[in-house]
Amino acid sequence: MVSSEMTDDGSGPVRSPGTGASGGMPHGTRLDPFLEAYAERARSMTSSEIRALFAVASRPEVVSLAGGMPFVSALPLDAVADTFRRLIAERGAQALQYGSGQGMEVLREQIVAALMPLVGVHAHPDDVVVTVGSQQGLDIVTRILCDPGDIIVAEAPSYVGALSVFAAYQAEVVHVPMDGDGLDPDALAETFRQLAAAGRRPKFLYTVPSFHNPAGVTQGPDRRRAVLDTCQAFGVPIVEDDPYGLLGFDGEVPRALRADDAESVLYLGSFSKTFSPGLRVGWVVAPHGVREKLVLATEASVLCPPQLSQLAVSAYLAEQPWWDQVKVFRELYRERRDALISAVQSHFPAETTWTTPSGGFYSWVTLPEGLDSSSMLPRAVTARVAYVPGSAFYAGNAKRLGKRSLRLSYCFPDPDRIREGVRRLAGVIESELELVHTFGSPVAHTDPALSARDNARIAGQSQAPGPATE
Ligand code: PMP
Repeated sequence: MVSSEMTDDGSGPVRSPGTGASGGMPHGTRLDPFLEAYAERARSMTSSEIRALFAVASRPEVVSLAGGMPFVSALPLDAVADTFRRLIAERGAQALQYGSGQGMEVLREQIVAALMPLVGVHAHPDDVVVTVGSQQGLDIVTRILCDPGDIIVAEAPSYVGALSVFAAYQAEVVHVPMDGDGLDPDALAETFRQLAAAGRRPKFLYTVPSFHNPAGVTQGPDRRRAVLDTCQAFGVPIVEDDPYGLLGFDGEVPRALRADDAESVLYLGSFSKTFSPGLRVGWVVAPHGVREKLVLATEASVLCPPQLSQLAVSAYLAEQPWWDQVKVFRELYRERRDALISAVQSHFPAETTWTTPSGGFYSWVTLPEGLDSSSMLPRAVTARVAYVPGSAFYAGNAKRLGKRSLRLSYCFPDPDRIREGVRRLAGVIESELELVHTFGSPVAHTDPALSARDNARIAGQSQAPGPATE
């Protein structure tokens, strides 16, 4: 089996182990003394050329519309500093010690009392496992549910960090299209039918129903009901990943899928977007049996979530006006969303489409026919603007579906920087278009499978812009 990934040192295509001296190198490079030692699952853990570009993109002169970093400078940093000082001075012996694998009871109580009712979920503190961010939640959920070769059904496109976890456990991802209202339940049912006909049953559906990363779309109430009904009909559990649910710009908090099915929905929450990603505190709400396995999986991977972080989150919830801070974040991100969307409207060529998110951090852009967001990225970075190419948000062979798309984040740069970034990106798109018009499109000629319809379907963008596009 030949892998076409580039190695970290750029030495180019590499081969899998066992190909022999004449067959080239095993995966890795000759500079790596562990070359022969890697497990099969490490094969998917490759560093891409995009990562190298992002090193350049982090320079201050580049406007990064790439990363999903929350704007933590808007937090009451002095108050947080006081909290930390006090925690160490007064409760240092606890804060600096190992703790429970399930997480601190006081925090689990606060999660079920203050956070979960906001999304319509009434749970017991025992149902909660505190995790090292929701990323660790994804890791332990996949660890306890998936064997190599198992199928996970996920939106097209999907959160790249979840795809990395699924790849690490050697699960196979089957993507289901979305439209402007999120995951398409008819396509979901059809996927389940086809898998059943092939004798395959997915381990779970992975979905981000609210303010989707990267698509920027949200499932409405009817859509959520339809997704739940479809999963129930086919006996497929749901992993609901909800880090952005409180960040809706109209102030309404969408009702979690877990609120209407406590038995087969595992809910993942996070303090990363509403408080701080640096503290690495998230949680999973799960039925009893699953919860026990999750605690054992946590103990095997990190022993316990950090006590100091949990105490800091707990104190923040108890002592600070955290809900007012959520409103501050919503307002800040709404303003940045507006800056992005109005700049895109003014500057992008007519054939470009995009989603207008009603919350969260991201808009999903589909470029004019013939453009390729990955090959355009070096030119964008040269023009001092960065984004994430769409292919990053698809697994395996489906990556080609992201060719014409890209994700823009508006969470971190201020509105002026966002406008400047969009202006620069528009210039890059225009010159790419000129090239395509002059020389023709390599994408269109070599990859007829990537039709406008494929791309339009991904984020609910019909050729005539639909409700989610503008
Ligand atoms: N899920 C989604 C959809 C995300 O966007 C992110 C972060 N970008 C995570 C999970 C992980 O977040 P954390 O581990 O910081 O809670």
